Amino acid sequence: MADSMIVYKCPCCGADIQYAAGTDKLKCMYCDNEYEISTLQGYEEGLSQQKPENFSWKTYDERSGNGDWSEGELSSLKSFKCSHCGGEIIGDGSTMASTCPYCDNPVVMNEAVEGVLRPDFVIPFKVDRSKVEKAYANFIKGKPLLPKSFRSENRIQNIKGIYVPFWLFDANSTGDAHYKGTKVKHWSDSKYIYTKTEHYSIVRAGVMSFEKVPVDGSTKMDDALMESLEPFHYDEAVDFSTAYLAGFFADRYDVDVAHSIDRANARIKNSTDEVLKSTVKGYMKVVNENVNVQINEGEIRYALMPVWVCNTEYKGENYMFAVNGQTGKTVGNLPIDKMKKLLFGAAAMAVSFAAVFSFITFLL
Ligand SMILES: [Zn+2]
Ligand SMILES: [Zn+2]
Repeated sequence: MADSMIVYKCPCCGADIQYAAGTDKLKCMYCDNEYEISTLQGYEEGLSQQKPENFSWKTYDERSGNGDWSEGELSSLKSFKCSHCGGEIIGDGSTMASTCPYCDNPVVMNEAVEGVLRPDFVIPFKVDRSKVEKAYANFIKGKPLLPKSFRSENRIQNIKGIYVPFWLFDANSTGDAHYKGTKVKHWSDSKYIYTKTEHYSIVRAGVMSFEKVPVDGSTKMDDALMESLEPFHYDEAVDFSTAYLAGFFADRYDVDVAHSIDRANARIKNSTDEVLKSTVKGYMKVVNENVNVQINEGEIRYALMPVWVCNTEYKGENYMFAVNGQTGKTVGNLPIDKMKKLLFGAAAMAVSFAAVFSFITFLL
């Protein structure tokens, strides 16, 4: 009778195996593996005992971390919203931007700052302007196809120091993972070649501590660019004070905590899986069955990271040069002047003609 049957899942191929009363061994019709019933029961019990995934984070608001702005702090700051690209920048009242750091369009910085959370940490700028200017000079050196406007003195003055907003996630996580592993042996005698494949159900669990898992809080700073500027050394982060803003700007976050949590969860889950999986050794193949992570009451902090940037709009495209303000790591892209490219190509052709010509001359 159908309803007296118990159906197990084949641990090797996932197909249904039906158990009929009176049998002590079960065979999968699809992959031909045979199992003791106790093995299948133990396997299913193990899977069902896994705790459901749970990521819980404490709410982050103006009372979290180092708390809210103190009196006078906010009124000493000014901001602007760029009408061209939508970028929102904050600076201390004495540092005036004349152009938007993101799109190079003229701006006036005169709005009051409101509705912004106070950062908990800041990584101060360690790389000073003169070093960044040298780095830019090196960056454009030996690039004959670069348009003239990128070489002007004015370009170098346009490099700005910006603090980029980051959400940092601290948590103790419990991870448990189930993997499937296979070991394969081959041997032969005079008549046959034999292959023996052994299947293993592998269970791993552990507690891990994550500190300052970063998620970029700004869409204005390109994610790929920020990742290529990483790493930042978070151990050098200090408590925020508006004094760190003197001479620099701060990008106002436009990705809020709620929208950053998923990325933090994914990073934590990946790392948990990597660490647990690194202890699974000696198998020919290991496949993830499921990895569950539980985080209880993780803490979120808001921090500012130092970046020097120079954005230049050229023929409708934006080009960026950026330096990690803590480590000096430099990244950027530059345009090619098409007219110069033609001339450069013609010159290269002339050289190769000359080379061929002299080669022929030599043979004669
Ligand atoms: Zn099977
Ligand atoms: Zn702009």
